[in-house]
Amino acid sequence: MELAARLIQEGKLVAFPTETVYGLGANALDPMAVAKIFALKERPSFDPLIIHIADLDDLKKLTAEVDDRVYLLAEKFWPGSLTLVLPKSKLVPDIVTSGLPTVGIRMPANEIARELIRTSGRPIAAPSANKFGRISPTTANHVRKQLPDVDYILDGGKTTVGIESTIIELTEKGFRILRNGIITKEDIEEVLSFDDSEKTESIVAPGMVKSHYSPVKKMIVADKNIPVDIDKSKAGLLSFTGKYENGYRKIIRVSESNDLKEYAVNMFDAMHTFEDDSEIEIIVAEPVAETGIGKAIMDRLRKAEYNWRKGSSEI
Ligand code: AMP
Ligand code: MG
Repeated sequence: MELAARLIQEGKLVAFPTETVYGLGANALDPMAVAKIFALKERPSFDPLIIHIADLDDLKKLTAEVDDRVYLLAEKFWPGSLTLVLPKSKLVPDIVTSGLPTVGIRMPANEIARELIRTSGRPIAAPSANKFGRISPTTANHVRKQLPDVDYILDGGKTTVGIESTIIELTEKGFRILRNGIITKEDIEEVLSFDDSEKTESIVAPGMVKSHYSPVKKMIVADKNIPVDIDKSKAGLLSFTGKYENGYRKIIRVSESNDLKEYAVNMFDAMHTFEDDSEIEIIVAEPVAETGIGKAIMDRLRKAEYNWRKGSSEI
């Protein structure tokens, strides 16, 4: 921890666990350090980073004005997997926010993550610790596989949530969701109303790109459009209900008890396992209903299959 914190202070990159996925961290206030994140990830500069904090005091420093609703949300959901997009203060370098006047901020629940922030004494900008567009990392090994040149990795075992944070922005009427996660619309509605009005301004939320979380192998969601000619003997299945396992070469049961939280926790790990398995040519995922946490899961799966489906003539 001491070494990792020192590396952060020196402007180096440290991969660290959060409860959602592993982050690729740098001192958020050091533009040169943040530039290294974009370079190592091969992330386009238009895709803003989330800043991770350990104390509410940091929130004040990094944002322009904090309204009461922010404290309401922080009290209920922090530390935890909710990111708030708020007007930024001058302290935040433009490279972090891709030039936007707003900044995404989160206080992670993972103790190692918060200890790194506290020990280094720096707010930490961190996207997921993977190459841009590829499968997110939920173990230190996943990070090593994609980013072998990172300066340091803090290994905190497998992450406990498994998918990225829910991202919201605040509007006059309430909140809008920019990315779905384990904290659902319904959870947030307990403290704030959902703003369902038409968006007028076109905000940049590249979390909304169509292809993302994508394996290097063909990936497909096995809904009613599944091509009949998929060779199951070369396919690995992410199985949820256990009902569709016939004929697949390999099966990973992502939940033993039909629990969507477990699907979220195990989804990326299962995709990595099949990506690394030379006997598997196609990764097939069982879909779930798009409500509650199911929304966040289907959002990831749809993006992971996007390029493969788009190029596929059989459908
Ligand atoms: P990640 O790559 O998981 O760290 O997610 C970062 C994502 O957070 C970006 O792709 C955006 O979708 C979102 N984000 C971060 N900052 C902002 C911001 N200021 N405005 C809108 N979305 C943001
Ligand atoms: Mg990511």
